Amino acid sequence: MKHYKKSLPVWEQKAEKGENTYPSVIRDAINKKLNGIIAMQAFNRKVKKPICVWQGESLFDGSPISVVISQYASDSANRKTGAMVQVSVLPTDKNAHEAFKSGSPSVCGDCKYNGSGCYVRWFMVERQRKSVQYLKNSAAALLLGQRLLRAMRVRVGTAGDPAAVPTHVWRTLLQDAEGWTGYTHAWKTCDQELKGLFLASCDNEQEVIEAGHLGWSCYYVYDTFDIIHPEVIQCLYQEKMTTCYDCMLCHGRAKKQIVVGARLHGATNTKSQARSARKAAKNRSGEV
Ligand code: SF4
Repeated sequence: MKHYKKSLPVWEQKAEKGENTYPSVIRDAINKKLNGIIAMQAFNRKVKKPICVWQGESLFDGSPISVVISQYASDSANRKTGAMVQVSVLPTDKNAHEAFKSGSPSVCGDCKYNGSGCYVRWFMVERQRKSVQYLKNSAAALLLGQRLLRAMRVRVGTAGDPAAVPTHVWRTLLQDAEGWTGYTHAWKTCDQELKGLFLASCDNEQEVIEAGHLGWSCYYVYDTFDIIHPEVIQCLYQEKMTTCYDCMLCHGRAKKQIVVGARLHGATNTKSQARSARKAAKNRSGEV
């Protein structure tokens, strides 16, 4: 495996110039304090709960969905992403856990893990969904979202696939963000402009090759028995427990196409469900 710095375009350039590639912890803390005040002004009361910044129809099935921002005023407890602001795509009027269990395409499309094998803890997502705060004015909500993400490092798709949402929404929301990570399983069928924002989620070498030909950078989740091409860059969290917040290799705007590799992860039963889902998808596609 290559060391990620060998292919890290934006951040490596900074490092080569002797510039600090890490965000200032103090600056981030100030931004989050400011975010708390901005949210309070928008709602005329103290708000710390997740905020809906966009509502519309899913590009997967036309059902009502929401883009929800959380951890904008405090640090996320997510060990892998670190202190990133979290952005989820959730069903607006359906129980998110039930929707997942039924394999509803509203926020996850035809991802092979939709229904079983996903590492997202959907029962917790549903708890979060119940506490979401809404602004009546949709234009104001979108601008609030853009403001809350300003100068922040952002994880898009904490739950749900960004391809369920129109590209212009992401462009608006992420316009002033310092950086973000995000992945889509719908890379083959979604608006191809998303390849300028997010990485393609791939589960086998064939998908990596196909997505690569379409111009996508890839996040390749491989299994223990897979033989990995030497050009694949190992995820720094798995290699060294570096958080995404510090790493940012999966920033969708990297100038160079890359393939980041990560071993299949999650709880033991999630991994076994994921393996079954992969097998089923392989059988459906007629692969040997
Ligand atoms: S390579 Fe870096 S940014 Fe991408 S998932 Fe791993 S730790 Fe996060």
